Amino acid sequence: MARTIYTNGLVFDGSGSAPAPGEVVVDDERVVTVRPGWQDHSAGSWDGAPDGVTVVDASGCTVMPGLIESHAHLTFPSAVGHIDPSFNPPLDVSFFHHIEGMPAELARAERNARILLDAGFTSAYSAGSLLPMPTEVVLRDKIRAGAIPGPRLRAASMERDNHPVRPDGHLESDWQGPDACRAFVREQAAMGFDSVKFLLSNDDVFIAGGSQITQYTAEEANAAGEQARESGVWLNCHAQSAESVKIAVRAGFRSIYHCTYADEEALDLLESAKDDVFVSPAPGIIYANVHEGAEFGITPEVAKTMGSVDALAGMAAIYPQIRKRGIRALPGGDYGFPNNPIGRNARDLQLFVEILGYSPAETLSAATMLGGQVMGMSDELGLLAPGYLADLLVVRGNPVEDVRILQDAANIEWIVQGGRVHKQPAAVPA
Ligand SMILES: [Zn+2]
Repeated sequence: MARTIYTNGLVFDGSGSAPAPGEVVVDDERVVTVRPGWQDHSAGSWDGAPDGVTVVDASGCTVMPGLIESHAHLTFPSAVGHIDPSFNPPLDVSFFHHIEGMPAELARAERNARILLDAGFTSAYSAGSLLPMPTEVVLRDKIRAGAIPGPRLRAASMERDNHPVRPDGHLESDWQGPDACRAFVREQAAMGFDSVKFLLSNDDVFIAGGSQITQYTAEEANAAGEQARESGVWLNCHAQSAESVKIAVRAGFRSIYHCTYADEEALDLLESAKDDVFVSPAPGIIYANVHEGAEFGITPEVAKTMGSVDALAGMAAIYPQIRKRGIRALPGGDYGFPNNPIGRNARDLQLFVEILGYSPAETLSAATMLGGQVMGMSDELGLLAPGYLADLLVVRGNPVEDVRILQDAANIEWIVQGGRVHKQPAAVPA
């Protein structure tokens, strides 16, 4: 058995309680004890396990659960240090014309997975991919096997729109209707995905007024829901319009993204299902479109046309209500665009605090404890508590005092996943 003790620091356990002095004891891949208070180890006693104990001095740091991204797109092309302007809708989607197939897709996803883990995200719940191939299934399994570094992953299918005309112009017969939706869920489940993604609403980013267009009928959504339960997969959806949120909740969708234009009835429905549903607003891309897009052609005028100005205002209005109703809202989402690259995901924490009305401790608990819940691992992921997986960070400073410190990977001294060290401070030469 290998024991590691993270001591002399503050502990934020993920529950939302304020960071407090304490230490975290890890045996192999799991936490065994979280001990409050400053511990005196001067006598050299280490719980009867003096040999082979690794002591991590977390002085000046906070020990916290690894961050969990709730709406990842690990197959999207742009990541920090690897900006790809060819996927920048609606201005440029030429990305789709140079798809090279599975090996290249997988290579990019592996690169993105490492970048996301390097940013302190030890788990990621996928919100789908652009292409009809099981890249994320392979990625998930390689990470799980320890073959490549990356966050624990819940893999999601390609994002299903409801247009029978495919991007290359050919007509897909039998694409619409309840039976087609059922068949899609069945096929994606058979490919090994954990969840299946539907674009229940369109989006202003793709066509003007798109966010108010609900693309599926309740019958189609219900058929998908029935099949998902039968096939043992979860359903995720893009849902901007109020109607799309409603049909999603009624059909048993589990992760409902954005919800920007939810009305009172949609909020009531979300609240009535709050033990079963998760929402992810994904403010990062919207904020980036409004304030940080000019370099990529998203001028303030373009951002307005794309609906991002309205969406940012909509989120700022709706999320304080979602918070008050106790509906689980999680940070992260839609990183992978040129102005919102993968690796910058911790910026959502700041936006939750500054724009959506969450406290720093609530936000960090949503990014850890609620993340463990959306991963379907609430009894072993997202908290620092006995029996939980040792997915943890040692962060210089106190992120509850300033959530922005998590945006600089240099502040994350240790990244540990299941007790295995991914990052640690470089040894100082004697
Ligand atoms: Zn998305």
